Amino acid sequence: MITLKGLHKKFDELEVLKGIDLQVDRGKVVVVIGPSGSGKTTLLRCMNVLETPTAGEISIDNQTLDFTDSVSKKAISSFRRLTGMVFQSYNLFPHMTALGNVMEGPLTVKGESKEAVRKRAEELLSKVGLGDKLDYYPFQLSGGQQQRVGIARALAMEPKVMLFDEPTSALDPELVGEVLKVMKNLASEGMTMVVVTHEMRFAEEAADEVIFMDGGHIIERGAPSQIFTNPKEERTKQFLNMIQ
Ligand code: ATP
Repeated sequence: MITLKGLHKKFDELEVLKGIDLQVDRGKVVVVIGPSGSGKTTLLRCMNVLETPTAGEISIDNQTLDFTDSVSKKAISSFRRLTGMVFQSYNLFPHMTALGNVMEGPLTVKGESKEAVRKRAEELLSKVGLGDKLDYYPFQLSGGQQQRVGIARALAMEPKVMLFDEPTSALDPELVGEVLKVMKNLASEGMTMVVVTHEMRFAEEAADEVIFMDGGHIIERGAPSQIFTNPKEERTKQFLNMIQ
């Protein structure tokens, strides 16, 4: 469903991704872990082409972008719609209500009727537990509530894959659970997800596979139980010892 082949990304002379090969099957949840600066965020941003890879290929279903050739803006924007991204800092529009935030993308991009978009936005906000906060502005919502609006907003575009970039790291500890719960529900409904997170319990409970990255490479991958209890690579062991 989502496949990366030989993905490279350089920022000037700094090579941040050094040839990433990865396949995530439909309905699977992959959690990406690794030390700061190992390239996790860059990997996610390349998956929805917020960063343009320097070389390699990305496919989602039957759409492929090959970055060895130059890729048109049109191809990138149609590809981007296949993924929904949830950011650490929510990135909501401050002057729009929760409902307005969720409706904005489909209204501007999909050309659907306002009524249909509104109905789906209301359903999505109910699904993330905010059915009673439709008319609230971001400043009237807690961080956890804002992040749940962020998830509903990404879902409103009906993506094939959801990408989460440290979605709970800006939250006060008591608000982390409500966001992880929404993510676990999504996973159990069969959404394909790639999640960069430091929440190892989420990885244990929801991930089909954990990927450990370091220095722009995938060092090790496996089921959470294997990676967390019996890592094979020395670098994975060191990292897990450091954070546990
Ligand atoms: P963290 O856990 O701290 O978020 P990470 O594993 O997500 O780290 P990235 O954010 O992908 O790592 O960054 C990898 C490297 O790429 C870092 O050295 C970073 O400084 C560099 N980098 C990221 N984005 C840019 C950019 N736009 N321009 C230049 N360098 C960048």
